[in-house]
Amino acid sequence: MQKRYLLAPGPTQIPPEVLLKMAEPIIHHRNPLFESIVAEVRENLKYLFETKNEVLIFASSGTGAMEGSVTNMLSAGDKAIVVRSGKFGDRWANICKAYGVETIAIEIPWGDAMDPADIEKALKNNPDAKGVYIQATETSTGAKFPVKEIADIVKNYPDTLMVVDAITGLGVFELPQDKWNIDVLVGGSQKALMLPPGLAFAGVSDKAWEFNKKSKLPKFYFNWAKEFANLQKNQTNFTPAISLIVGLRESLRMIKEEGLENVYRRIDILAKATREGAMALGLKIFAKTPSAAVTAIVAPEGIDGQAIYKSLWKKYGVTGAGGQDQLKGKIFRIATLGYADKYDVITAISALEFTLKDLGYKFQMGVGVAKALECLKDL
Ligand SMILES: *Cc1c(COP(=O)(O)O)cnc(C)c1O
Repeated sequence: MQKRYLLAPGPTQIPPEVLLKMAEPIIHHRNPLFESIVAEVRENLKYLFETKNEVLIFASSGTGAMEGSVTNMLSAGDKAIVVRSGKFGDRWANICKAYGVETIAIEIPWGDAMDPADIEKALKNNPDAKGVYIQATETSTGAKFPVKEIADIVKNYPDTLMVVDAITGLGVFELPQDKWNIDVLVGGSQKALMLPPGLAFAGVSDKAWEFNKKSKLPKFYFNWAKEFANLQKNQTNFTPAISLIVGLRESLRMIKEEGLENVYRRIDILAKATREGAMALGLKIFAKTPSAAVTAIVAPEGIDGQAIYKSLWKKYGVTGAGGQDQLKGKIFRIATLGYADKYDVITAISALEFTLKDLGYKFQMGVGVAKALECLKDL
């Protein structure tokens, strides 16, 4: 027998309460029962996004809402500033490219810290840029980006939107949309929202809706104005992912019951314990500004990061993640977002110790777990 533990940065573990709700017989979406579910979900999404505005819901993976953040806000030939420091920053650039939006790329070596002054400089050099498109967490490197500091800069540019891919930020750490002047805040179901993949979200500010009126890029499936109009009637433009929305009602209830601050505190401590546990084993953390969503750990000298990731999964049942693109073989990742608790971290660090021992790395067994235990004591 092998028991499995899912500690990847998405999909993540799903609480049994949510799984059970999604297993109930399907209901029809054009009836009052479903409408009452949508009504509750709309309210609780506003709680999660910390916004008074509508949060749009799409049947797609997170990238659908990223694409919509370009096609619903911009026109062909517009300029957008993107930060390329990992796979997901590249995704913003690739979406822009696909739609004929010119990108001004701020290139930061993967895993390095982002300096908000670079954004200010890019905006000064390109005052006609219509948007700054960044990540809250660059999941491929485990780096957290200074969203608040950047939003504080962008808010002084009335013709520029602040767009944040917070697919591994929402429900992980503080990202109050209205307070921080984030114009488009993008989320996805399979990360901290404790659901299967298949839902994407976008919180949209008043400023962003003004851009939407002028945007000329083609839009059909992801037509935000139409989704907004339908949501006012607790409906969606097309057939929604009904079971996922039923699950979402439950997961949002759980988040609300725990309280956002407690959720953030829990995940923060879990991530800290993961980092400290790894460091106690003599390993290094890859990102200079690590996110609580996922910890990218540098494979020790002479040991292949993919071998660590594969052994964790194959021999010890712990699904983390490897490195992507240029980081393949150099790092492996363990996530702490969503439905995770202290025993998940202990499991991960134990499996890591077993794996490192197998691969011939020299260390004293138990020191990583001991350090993690210490960090988790008061959680
Ligand atoms: C997971 C993730 C996405 C979305 O990927 P999908 O496969 O489309 O759900 C986007 N951005 C970040 C930062 C992510 O972690």
